[in-house]
Amino acid sequence: MAPNLPEKQWAMVIEKTGGPVDYKEIPVPKPGPDEVLVNIKYSGVCHTDLHAVNGDWPIPTKLPLVGGHEGAGVVVARGDLVTEVEIGDHAGIKWLNGSCLSCSFCMQGDEPLCPKALLSGYTVDGTFQQYAIGKAAHVARIPKEVPLDGVAPVLCAGITVFKGLKESGARPGETVAIVGAGGGLGSLACQYAKAMGLQVIAIDAGDEKKKMCMELGASAFCDFSSSENLVKDVQAATEDGTGPHAVLLVAVNEKPFQQAAEYVRPRGTVVAIGLPAGAFLKAPVFETVIGMKTIKGSYVGNRKDTTEALDFFKRGLINSPFKTIGMSELQKVYDMMQQGKIAGRYVVDTSK
Ligand code: NAD
Ligand code: ZN
Repeated sequence: MAPNLPEKQWAMVIEKTGGPVDYKEIPVPKPGPDEVLVNIKYSGVCHTDLHAVNGDWPIPTKLPLVGGHEGAGVVVARGDLVTEVEIGDHAGIKWLNGSCLSCSFCMQGDEPLCPKALLSGYTVDGTFQQYAIGKAAHVARIPKEVPLDGVAPVLCAGITVFKGLKESGARPGETVAIVGAGGGLGSLACQYAKAMGLQVIAIDAGDEKKKMCMELGASAFCDFSSSENLVKDVQAATEDGTGPHAVLLVAVNEKPFQQAAEYVRPRGTVVAIGLPAGAFLKAPVFETVIGMKTIKGSYVGNRKDTTEALDFFKRGLINSPFKTIGMSELQKVYDMMQQGKIAGRYVVDTSK
């Protein structure tokens, strides 16, 4: 343990499901033998954090809970068994806080599927605090030259959409529709897709999100709130009118999950990533079969996806917009998010 660590710190805590989220002083946690303590400087706010407050998913959260899982900061202490992370290193605490590393899923690099996975800001305390704990084997290694505020959203949104794009099987030159393109995951998806040589059809609502998506490199924007026939509009936005090769669903609404299989091109793939509460995927059997369409889920990314997603950022390929706000104002971000009013991502500054 570094000698000059404080005993207390500021954090955003929920005592019960549904909130409120309170700004208060809590003890600085002590890392276990295989853990590091990260002085979180900035943390992105993901819609998953709002699901955790609302308790609308089938898995319960720990309580009281410190949310957050896009935390970027500096390693200030480490357990006795940790050798690969140094004090002073820049590190990120992501959704997957830890996993057993020895089950069949971990062995094949599918650690998000580990039955013993620890989830930051959900089953263990996360990054809406000044000092957070992560398993040393799982913390993201952030290169020193990248800014800690800008890189924070990569730690969940970036890794997740990068993995989803890989899972879609779309190849350079092909077209991907990003559904929810104006949100946190969506804005990063536009950038990763472009960097991977894909053409992007962005789907979301309103002029602010349209402007942002077009600036991020989308070749077309379909507004789901005003379109009279979204399926036709999306297909019409592709070169030969047969629909996109892949669809990335990052919206927090059931309807598009029931629509995507209709407009994806034959042989195309629909990747479900967003997690609207209680929602179901739906597809017509006939068209899915004769169109040889694939529908699949994609869940965050493994350690290698993390390193690769961070490398795209380091090379300057990812410049998605974010706004910074004091951590104590987290509730304001949740309110805007609930109303679908955030274009891009909010990042909280843990010093305020
Ligand atoms: P966000 O609130 O920033 O963005 C959601 C976007 O969806 C908004 O811009 C909204 O306008 C748009 N939207 C709503 N209805 C739509 C519709 N009918 N068609 C098109 N767009 C629509 O949320 P976020 O932080 O980007 O998270 C998105 C979802 O992804 C959440 O459910 C979150 O829990 C989930 N998530 C999943 C994973 C995973 O590993 N699978 C990882 C991170 C987040
Ligand atoms: Zn997230």
